[in-house]
Amino acid sequence: MTSRLPGFYRLGVAERRRRLLQACRIEEGQFAAIDPGALALDIADGMIENVVGTYALPFSVAVNFCVDGIDSLVPMAIEEPSVVAAASNAARMARPGGFTTHASAPVMIGQIQVTHIVDVDRGAAALRAAEASLLDDARRLVPRLAERGGGPVGLEVRTLARAGEDGGVIVVHLLVDCRDAMGANLVNTLCEALAERVAQIAGGKAGLRILSNLTDGRTITVRCRVEDAALASDGTGAEVRAAVAAASRFAELDPYRAATHNKGIMNGVDAVLVATGQDWRAVEAGAHAYAARTGAYRPLAVWRETDGGLLGELVMPLAVGTVGGALHSHPAARLALELANIDHADRLAALAAASGLATNLAALRALATEGIQRGHMALHARGLARAAGATGELVDRVAAELAACGDVKPDRAREVLARLKESP
Ligand code: NAD
Repeated sequence: MTSRLPGFYRLGVAERRRRLLQACRIEEGQFAAIDPGALALDIADGMIENVVGTYALPFSVAVNFCVDGIDSLVPMAIEEPSVVAAASNAARMARPGGFTTHASAPVMIGQIQVTHIVDVDRGAAALRAAEASLLDDARRLVPRLAERGGGPVGLEVRTLARAGEDGGVIVVHLLVDCRDAMGANLVNTLCEALAERVAQIAGGKAGLRILSNLTDGRTITVRCRVEDAALASDGTGAEVRAAVAAASRFAELDPYRAATHNKGIMNGVDAVLVATGQDWRAVEAGAHAYAARTGAYRPLAVWRETDGGLLGELVMPLAVGTVGGALHSHPAARLALELANIDHADRLAALAAASGLATNLAALRALATEGIQRGHMALHARGLARAAGATGELVDRVAAELAACGDVKPDRAREVLARLKESP
């Protein structure tokens, strides 16, 4: 299967569907899942509370993606124009080597807070000593997950306060390999079941018990290389490359820029998450907390120049599931997984992250080339002013007027020069 569908953007919706039928293993009837009104009112009513209707978004596929050597159409649901085009264009630029990814084990963190501990050192030591036994208890609660190769894998004890309004405070992190589930319900259930015993061992009072959305144990790394020739076809590739790398350094130095840089990444990530029925608020919360984990808010992706090209790398937490959550009920989400041939959570994370790196590249390149083009146009305008016969300060005045009206042409340069000479 190829994700290269040249001219896909020029087709009508019906024709695009026909191309998809040729390109992927889906049947015509399945498109009903993304027809208007596909989410039935009674299903919607069962999903959330106080339902009075449904709310639709455009459903698209981005083309040109090759991720870990496998072509994939990338489903996207988003209201913002140009994100799908940007992702498709950047995926084409990166296509020769494609995107390569590495996913950590899908380990989620469940937090059990214990407050009012008189001796936190003793409490922490007792909890560490009980790790094996607590993990055994936890494993017994999720035998099916263990059969699938997942389940509780570790316990961490962190002291948060030695004294204060809540007394001594310890938080226990229960680390759970959630396999193909996002895992929030799974982890919350485990934390609730263990909380009383944990509090007893620590010598305190059980507080909150819920997963952390800073899922730094469940990250995805995606890389790509883009050649100068792919960055610009007019021979300015090396300049664009330098400008993208400079834009990356800007984001690395300045949280105000980093926020916008990361927003460009989340354009691509969130569109895939929404299309595939994921909890995108959970991923957003995790992404930004991860971006700020050093104490400074930093870009999730960076770009570096190499010989004749750019190297991009995105690292972010990405807790997604191909079972559970909205996938039980949302027909479009299930079709999205099928269209992209996604059968496990790592692949979904890989495609969402590749999409994020692609939209980041497209945004930086657009910013860089617009700046460069403006520079080029200004230079061009000065050249035309001189060619029209302008000298001295008239060169700048003619060039400025050409650039301002956007009509950087020889005739216009002669016209402007004649007028300025007549009435200086
Ligand atoms: P879920 O409750 O539907 O559970 C998934 C279940 O799928 C597991 O319990 C497991 O038994 C089963 N399963 C089948 N095949 C599996 C496989 N290959 N790998 C792993 N499990 C498999 O879903 P969940 O993932 O536990 O929770 C996700 C939901 O929780 C989302 O809807 C999310 O919005 C919601 N949620 C999020 C937060 C938060 O992020 N803070 C808090 C509460 C709830």
